[in-house]
Amino acid sequence: MVDPRRHVPRTDAVLADPRLVAAGGRLGRSVVKDAVAWAQRRARSGEIGPEEVADAAVAALPPQAASLRAVINATGVLVHTNLGRAPLSAAAIEAMVAVAGPADVEFDLATGARARRGRGALDALARAVPAAEDVHVVNNNAAALVLVATVLAAGREIVISRGELVEIGDGFRIPDLLGSTGARLREVGTTNRTSYQDYAKAVGPETGCVLKVHPSNFRIEGFTGSVEVGELTGLGVPVVADIGSGLLVREPLLPAEPDATTVLAAGADLVTASGDKLLGGPQAGLLLGRRDLVEQCRRHPLARALRVDKLTLAALEATLRGPAVPVRRALRADPAALGDRAAVLAGRLVDAGVDARAVPSQAAVGGGGAPGVTLPSAAVSLPERLAAPLRTGEPPVVGRIEGGRLLLDLRTVPGERDEDVVRAILGAGG
Ligand SMILES: *Cc1c(COP(=O)(O)O)cnc(C)c1O
Repeated sequence: MVDPRRHVPRTDAVLADPRLVAAGGRLGRSVVKDAVAWAQRRARSGEIGPEEVADAAVAALPPQAASLRAVINATGVLVHTNLGRAPLSAAAIEAMVAVAGPADVEFDLATGARARRGRGALDALARAVPAAEDVHVVNNNAAALVLVATVLAAGREIVISRGELVEIGDGFRIPDLLGSTGARLREVGTTNRTSYQDYAKAVGPETGCVLKVHPSNFRIEGFTGSVEVGELTGLGVPVVADIGSGLLVREPLLPAEPDATTVLAAGADLVTASGDKLLGGPQAGLLLGRRDLVEQCRRHPLARALRVDKLTLAALEATLRGPAVPVRRALRADPAALGDRAAVLAGRLVDAGVDARAVPSQAAVGGGGAPGVTLPSAAVSLPERLAAPLRTGEPPVVGRIEGGRLLLDLRTVPGERDEDVVRAILGAGG
């Protein structure tokens, strides 16, 4: 018997294929070598013939040098943490790409002098929330909380309700994060009820601040009670509100979701929020509020370790100034129009012999906010066995399994991607 390894072409011979030479220039040599090694292994195991190695390597090349893949989110979860939270607007993507090379992030082109980093994004944020005297941007909301806790309460106490000692996700717990700064947590009240008196009794000379944390991924119902930000302003210590989702103004469709403008108007001294949840922008932490406190945060040495890069600054400014972001459009989508889209897609698939149906569905905001809120939606229902090939196709399409069917919920799929979804389903062997 002939050892099949003897016939597998040598690496340098395969790498000389002009298609792989060209790919090396675009993707880098190590990415191309990995694809060749993978194809050689398949040939060694007899899966493909030795003459197919170069073709298999070309077919295995990733679309980009990075392994992260762009996916179509058909889960119906608007802010899906595992799928990168908020999808950026076209304006934000364009702004990021434009400054990927050298950019005037700390440079004044008019004078040739050094300029304030992030001035455009900070100005846009300040304009969007006139109730804030000053604003600052850091890496994410967790970073904003660390900075605030360090500045206001390191070595002192943060007064917080036991009902707000929350875990945000994947083992990330607000109390652990705050504790890591050297601040001590002074827990007040109970899981379901905390009163103004609970706070008032705990506040004293050791208090650095009172912190209100929005329970953004769960709801407690029944015999409950909590104290609004406005009632805490008379305690004589800074009141910080972590609103989580990043709504800057009230969103009528999500009446229970706090927003920065309302919370500041109610008297919060500082508000912290995420940039990539309901605000619909890049990963970022927003700090808004009293000028002296924001200034202290900005000047603290830790601020340098938490600062954002030019890509984030560009995307955030375009999110704030640009047209409606995808999260907002998904939130406001008309259920009847979603139903029409689902019917058209299902009709085309049925014509192509696919077991597809248009069905009503329930979408959700997701871990990013508005727990318990469902948004009427529409989906294309497919056989469950299509889930895996759709996830691993190009582009990958991620839906959700319900009642033994794969649902592709259209509320999270921009209308201009419908064609890609149909092609992916047909390509997945639908
Ligand atoms: C999401 C969330 C955080 C964490 O925000 P990141 O931007 O992920 O760091 C903190 N607090 C609340 C209330 C949240 O909802």
